[in-house]
Amino acid sequence: MRRIYDIVVVGAGPAGSLAAKTAAEKGFRVILLERGRRPGDKNVGGELLTQDVFHHFSWMAEGPLERPITRWSFHLHREDGSLVELAFSRSKPFGYTVHRPEWDRWVSKAAAEAGAQLKTSTLVERVLKNEGGYAIGVETSKGEKFYGSLVIGADGVNSVVARSFGLRGKWPPEAVALAVKQTYRLGENLVSGRFTRGGCVEALVVFDDHYPSGYCWVFPSKRLVALGVGATLNSKEPPKLQLKRMLRLPAVRERVKGGRLIEEAARLIPVGPPAAKTFGDGILLAGDAAGFTCPMEGAGYEAAAYSGKLAAEVACEALSAGDVSAGFLSAYEERWRESWIGLNLDFGGRMQNLILRELGIKRVSRFLYGFLTAVAKHGCYPSLSHKEALARFLRENGELLTLLGGKVGAFLGVEHSL
Ligand SMILES: Cc1cc2nc3c(=O)[nH]c(=O)nc-3n(C[C@H](O)[C@H](O)[C@H](O)COP(=O)(O)OP(=O)(O)OC[C@H]3O[C@@H](n4cnc5c(N)ncnc54)[C@H](O)[C@@H]3O)c2cc1C
Repeated sequence: MRRIYDIVVVGAGPAGSLAAKTAAEKGFRVILLERGRRPGDKNVGGELLTQDVFHHFSWMAEGPLERPITRWSFHLHREDGSLVELAFSRSKPFGYTVHRPEWDRWVSKAAAEAGAQLKTSTLVERVLKNEGGYAIGVETSKGEKFYGSLVIGADGVNSVVARSFGLRGKWPPEAVALAVKQTYRLGENLVSGRFTRGGCVEALVVFDDHYPSGYCWVFPSKRLVALGVGATLNSKEPPKLQLKRMLRLPAVRERVKGGRLIEEAARLIPVGPPAAKTFGDGILLAGDAAGFTCPMEGAGYEAAAYSGKLAAEVACEALSAGDVSAGFLSAYEERWRESWIGLNLDFGGRMQNLILRELGIKRVSRFLYGFLTAVAKHGCYPSLSHKEALARFLRENGELLTLLGGKVGAFLGVEHSL
């Protein structure tokens, strides 16, 4: 039997669920296909969703949140053995920790409640095209075919949809990071005791000048502590070894001491430029499938959810106009490029080039340290873009600007005095 929908969405992560929810709310027939037995089953726990996520999607404040984060702590271990520490606290949370498996299920349920049909245990293997080259649906590993006037590829970093349609190839090694993650069970009281500072709940981020191409994060949830390290595939030390080394640092070790290791996982994060093209005849890409993760911090939840919504809005306009050609759908790429997603990707890409090619790998950890502390202190969208937040932070921290060098200052429009 031919199953015909208006929109076939592949992947029930944030990008796919938000795309499906948005289109279903507008009255379109949507199917959301997910390879996992349940949405979220293929994801790892212990992520931090920034306040901006809740700015865009206020209904998410009702979701299964773990802990509000009201303090950011940043540690920079320098080559000379010294340690620089910075912390910011405030009463309004910077964000919330969540368990992605549970969280993704809850968000996909919102898509189903809006009217999207959710089909799990369904691994999409290729995009079906008509004679004119338009995407007209997808085929699964069981040979099932799902037809739609439009396909939205929200199937994550290894997107089969993007590759089988020919929108992009494999990411090059410098454009993809491997994140290695561990989760420890400690119990609610121990986690509270170890992560509460002056009444605030802390998230810890650690950098090391000896291993400059990544950083370590330590996030508390109610009973668990998640920590991880991400580094690009071309980095000199595999992230698994970096994680071991980070676990020897007192600040990290003390926070998980005595805990039971209950999860160890490795996943890819796209950190290079986005896909050269995120639309085609009858097709759109959203989230990690399109490479929308911030190239510097590796956070991608907000961009995935936001781009899923944008993709669905353009898809619905195309269906209403009876035109799903690449020409019409190019409006999607114009919109995300003009949005904060485009601004931050453009800035991140240019900073990466500047730091890696011109200033050298040694300054990456210093830059990441400055960048993340800047974003934590000043916030970003909707108040400030990443570029503005970093410029403001460097104006206040002349020493860091000196370490980074004049070219970074010039790029950001910040005066550099040696
Ligand atoms: C270890 C780690 C920690 C992270 N921490 C943070 C954080 O703290 N904060 C943050 O903002 N971001 C974080 N990120 C990034 C964030 O997880 C991603 O950017 C975000 O999940 C991307 O959403 P997405 O919907 O595009 O893709 P995904 O979340 O990957 O969802 C894709 C979905 O598609 C399904 N799928 C894949 N292939 C197929 C197929 N062929 N057929 C059917 N279904 C398919 C998958 O099972 C999955 O459910 C982290 C990433 C990693 C790896």
